[in-house]
Amino acid sequence: MIVEQVWTGNAYRNFNYLIACPETGEAMAIDPLDHEKCLAVAADRGWRITQVLNTHEHGDHTGGNAAVIAATGATLLAHANAKDKIPGIDRGLGAGDVIKVGATVELEALDTPGHTMSHVCLLSHTDTPALFCGDTLFNAGAGNCHSGGHPAELYQTFAGQLAKLPDATLIYPGHDYITNNLEFTLDREPDNAKAKSLLADVGGQDPDDALVSTLGLEKEINTFFRLHSPSVIARLREAFPDLPDAPDAKTVFIKLRELRNSW
Ligand SMILES: [Zn+2]
Ligand SMILES: [Zn+2]
Repeated sequence: MIVEQVWTGNAYRNFNYLIACPETGEAMAIDPLDHEKCLAVAADRGWRITQVLNTHEHGDHTGGNAAVIAATGATLLAHANAKDKIPGIDRGLGAGDVIKVGATVELEALDTPGHTMSHVCLLSHTDTPALFCGDTLFNAGAGNCHSGGHPAELYQTFAGQLAKLPDATLIYPGHDYITNNLEFTLDREPDNAKAKSLLADVGGQDPDDALVSTLGLEKEINTFFRLHSPSVIARLREAFPDLPDAPDAKTVFIKLRELRNSW
């Protein structure tokens, strides 16, 4: 499996992806908003885009579908429940569905509600797994819930699915928000030395050559995986004095999501 992370350079800081089979040159484009760049990268590598996949229905993820499909004849895949939100879906996906790209690549669809209620992440069946997580999980952060999502479901997705993946899993998010998100982590957990050193490393990184984190690293630097951290809980109780001494993980997650909305 070959993964190409395509930095759009747009105001929303989107990352698009191409996933290619090294044997056949067939490729899947994930959320190819910058259709010109995605088509150019595929042409440059000699790849043929046969499938387009949308992680969810937001326009900054679906806006390149028509142009890529017109140029390549690719089929369109998205969450089965996105059928009334994304025009032209050829294959609706549910949890556990396997998507093949060429002869060698297998990707499994995870049903990951929270950012929206019809959001899929893709998990590769490779020795080192890779997770294409759209707007569900970001480097050092979590997707917002104000355009069709719900924080309680996002918590369930994080705790019930993402946190259980192997620590070595490579994380490929839909946007580059790492600097802001690390600053939020440090605002919540000022004694997080790992987040501090990572911010020094990636602050001002070239998004064309962005850090690819792992789930293990996210568990160290992403507040939304650090729901039992005494520092996170202590700081949260300063913001929400009514919280109990030992709030449950779901409450911590939802309160962090609420704080992040206005941070
Ligand atoms: Zn979105
Ligand atoms: Zn987005």
